[in-house]
Amino acid sequence: MAEKRFVVQRHRARRLHYDFRLEIDGVLVSWAVPKGPTLDPAVRRAAFHVEDHPMAYENFEGVIPSGQYGGGDVIVWDAGTWEPRDQDAADPGRAVENGELHFDVHGSKLRGRFVLVRTRGGRFGRAGQDEWLMLHKRDEYAVSGWDAEDHPDSVLSGRTNDQVKADPDRIWRSDLPAARASIPLKAAAEELAALHSLGANGTWEIFGRRLRVTNLDKVLFPGSPPITKRDFLDYTARVAPTVTPYLTRRALNMHRYPNGAGTKGFWQKELPSHAPEWLARWTNPEAARGETQTYLVVDEPAALIWAANFGALEWHPWTSRIDSPHEPTYALLDLDPGTGTSWEDLLSLARLHRTALEHLGVSARAKVTGRRGIQIWVPVEPGLSFDDTRAWAHDLSRTVGAVLPALVSWKWQKDERGGLARLDYTQNAINRTLVAPYSPRPAPEAPVSAPIAWDELDDPALRPDGFTMRTILPRLASQGDLFREVLDHPQQLPPIN
Ligand code: MN
Repeated sequence: MAEKRFVVQRHRARRLHYDFRLEIDGVLVSWAVPKGPTLDPAVRRAAFHVEDHPMAYENFEGVIPSGQYGGGDVIVWDAGTWEPRDQDAADPGRAVENGELHFDVHGSKLRGRFVLVRTRGGRFGRAGQDEWLMLHKRDEYAVSGWDAEDHPDSVLSGRTNDQVKADPDRIWRSDLPAARASIPLKAAAEELAALHSLGANGTWEIFGRRLRVTNLDKVLFPGSPPITKRDFLDYTARVAPTVTPYLTRRALNMHRYPNGAGTKGFWQKELPSHAPEWLARWTNPEAARGETQTYLVVDEPAALIWAANFGALEWHPWTSRIDSPHEPTYALLDLDPGTGTSWEDLLSLARLHRTALEHLGVSARAKVTGRRGIQIWVPVEPGLSFDDTRAWAHDLSRTVGAVLPALVSWKWQKDERGGLARLDYTQNAINRTLVAPYSPRPAPEAPVSAPIAWDELDDPALRPDGFTMRTILPRLASQGDLFREVLDHPQQLPPIN
């Protein structure tokens, strides 16, 4: 009999647990073990029999996007082969059905004889009640006091869950068939090089997808030298692993400039019918006739490349996720300069917001827009409505604006603002969007909307359009993603007054 595989994944989802999986009859029969397996024969671990997983999941290490089943981070904590023992050898599937399995494992961490035994639930129990115990027998591999948490590194990469979460190589898209669900996040050097050996059109294999790319030598951004569509796709491939988490599970409004940044762009929200079937999408159940029905959802890096090739120079994700379109995940503060607002004036307003947020104990991140403005994104816990975030942003901006009333207009109409800045809270609404971090803007040299550290507001060299497609990647490599906090730290919004 061929050796069967086993794998244990350390999975931080809503709660930390270890997924113990045995290959039986072509699937991974699985138990969630909250405290992890142990070699200590004096200890019994609770184990919950959960649904079988496909074999394709065996080597998965990476991130499952939040909002999807099992959202969190996963490492391959142990792996190897196993064999059923004694009376279970002939039919381990039957042994599991009957609620008791004796087996040996040959892993890197786990070795020796284990027993899994059902204590409650099972075939006739209700869902979620299939409770088992897992224990290690007294044998030559037994180790007293052995605890899984003392051995936290992946046997695949040597990395911890924290390290994988900070820089994942793959994501798992639960919404796709298992054979296609493990999506690479990093473009290999050969993949990037392949773009540059294509002619004006061609097929590019990137991030595990085959994409038709077109008009590669067309100039999209004036500059010296000019920036071609090939350069833009190269940038998109390099930045996509960083940008994708900001787009995942969200509808994307595409600002298209198929003829380049010097021409007039237009919004395209409807995913065209010729889009490849592997692209994730969301059909808005509330769309009226004549409104956009189906949106692109960038759940993997290759989808952003598809959008870029489609002429989407600017990427505008919704502030809410498709699972809950009326619940914003950020409150947005949009510091929008008027014609008479100097950069110094705008910086003064931004610094006041910084002080106010610090004072309130609110964690937030700022970015320059790549045009003239500054935006501040404040991550919020689930459960708020757009009315809530809009009211909060309004209160905050009113308070801040009152400090420098000469700089700020509250007039709705642009031509009534007398060239003053606007602290725009009205973007806190469904299907109103701000440009994504690292998105290019349609201007010469391809400026990008660039996250900044708060103390950069005091840097005399800071400019709202000072980071470009050519300069942002070295900055990202050296400083990391300065915006990441908005994904990781949802919070309640404190009252302003
Ligand atoms: Mn799990």
